[in-house]
Amino acid sequence: VVVVMGHVDHGKTRLLDAFRKTNIIDSESGGITQHIGAYQTKIKDRLITFLDTPGHEAFKTMRSRGSKIADVAIVIVAADDGLQPQTIEVITLCQRENLPFIIAINKIDKDNADIERVKKELADINLVPEDWGGKTICVPISAKKNENLETLLEMVLLIADMEELKSNPDALAAGTIIEAHKDKNEGPVATVLVQTGTLRVGDTIIVGSVAGKIKAMRDEFNEDVQKALPAKPVKILGLKETPAVGDILETINDPKLLKQKLKESKRNKVVATTQANIISKKNENDDSDDIPTLPIILKTDVVGSQEAIIESLVKLNTAKAQIKIIKKGLGNINDKDVLDAKSAKARLIGFHVKIAKSAESLALDEKVSIYNYEIIYKLLEDMEPELDKIKAQETLRVQLGEMKVLAIFKSEKNSMIVGGAVIKGKVQSDTTIKITRDGEFIDLGIIKELQCNKEIVTEAVEGQQCGITYKGRPVIQVDDILEFYQEKTE
Ligand code: GDP
Repeated sequence: VVVVMGHVDHGKTRLLDAFRKTNIIDSESGGITQHIGAYQTKIKDRLITFLDTPGHEAFKTMRSRGSKIADVAIVIVAADDGLQPQTIEVITLCQRENLPFIIAINKIDKDNADIERVKKELADINLVPEDWGGKTICVPISAKKNENLETLLEMVLLIADMEELKSNPDALAAGTIIEAHKDKNEGPVATVLVQTGTLRVGDTIIVGSVAGKIKAMRDEFNEDVQKALPAKPVKILGLKETPAVGDILETINDPKLLKQKLKESKRNKVVATTQANIISKKNENDDSDDIPTLPIILKTDVVGSQEAIIESLVKLNTAKAQIKIIKKGLGNINDKDVLDAKSAKARLIGFHVKIAKSAESLALDEKVSIYNYEIIYKLLEDMEPELDKIKAQETLRVQLGEMKVLAIFKSEKNSMIVGGAVIKGKVQSDTTIKITRDGEFIDLGIIKELQCNKEIVTEAVEGQQCGITYKGRPVIQVDDILEFYQEKTE
């Protein structure tokens, strides 16, 4: 079972497509029509299974619930781009998980392809290529021109032989769910990757806490199959509930054992759901108005640093103020990130990434600050006081009352005169105004002057109509709600 990993744009998808097209096992069925999460190709009368999860999703699938799904990794490196952060990351991951890997040096058809440079970069991180006297298998390929793909597959087989990757087809079947969804017509469907034994239609199975009987199985050609041998991905029908990706499927032929297993997993499920409830309660709180949040957009070089930063940031959360990651992504900071940060009033944070030239000038125009870091510690050091600031702001602010805007009398660059009715509590001059529209926060400003019946007053109460002079961005519209706050002096 092979997983293809590598830096973005180095050709993972293209390579998976090429294997899918060139090595059609069953040509009569017209090729692979179904995306079921994995597919098989045949080389030298042997089958190789490819996990068909592009990009970094492959990470998750590969690591699913601690069970090792892939046996061999193909780490793809574009010959015109060399080793990039995500390349290093996947190599580190393979090494950590003891997953054998082959380097596929891709895009050798390009004029600026430089295979030797890639090899040198590999040697620099102690992965000396075989033809340089080392142990790292490197295969130069072109996914686009279908060049050398056979050799690459042969290397996969070689590793399979060297590692003695074997499985017993006569055992009771067990496997891992690699894809699952609820189909409109077919109900819960899931793809299981059989890892040991042979799975058959009619088998009684248990997946997570759900038991079932396999009604039908289909392969990637959407053909019905009666049995699935080890390493075969099959879509299964007949489950009562949709399982989760990473769930283990087991065949059970002893009714007593089945009962016992179900009891066990139900108990586990109760614990799991209780935990899930607590977490979702917590999330509800996160969204509630009571806890002010610091929205963050995070761009990092690799998944590893992204995970590490989010984990550390979340630890800064308190009951009074919380970090909220509203968007995360890999790669350089671009225009879209700047615009998203602006509209969400979020901190735009980069880690080990560059800022696109256009994004830099856009950020200047839109007055969005970009925080770029090389060290996680420094990032955290900066965000902690930011979080404290919003905490202080919110806790020291006491709401006095609310006003509904009925008319706009004047609008200038930094001020407005508007009229409205006090619908709750009271309003006072020299207080902070929070503008909301249909429950959404719009902006903050201050009220400079308050007039009732053409007279300047310091206070107006519920039921009264009044006019106010507002200082701030001229964004107030009719029907907006203005909330009045006083900064509390202890
Ligand atoms: P992924 O992000 O790793 O999945 O990369 P893709 O498979 O989407 O490929 C990124 C781009 O590189 C696409 O435009 C591909 O057509 C192109 N590409 C992939 N393999 C090759 C190759 O062998 N030669 C050339 N010239 N282009 C390739």
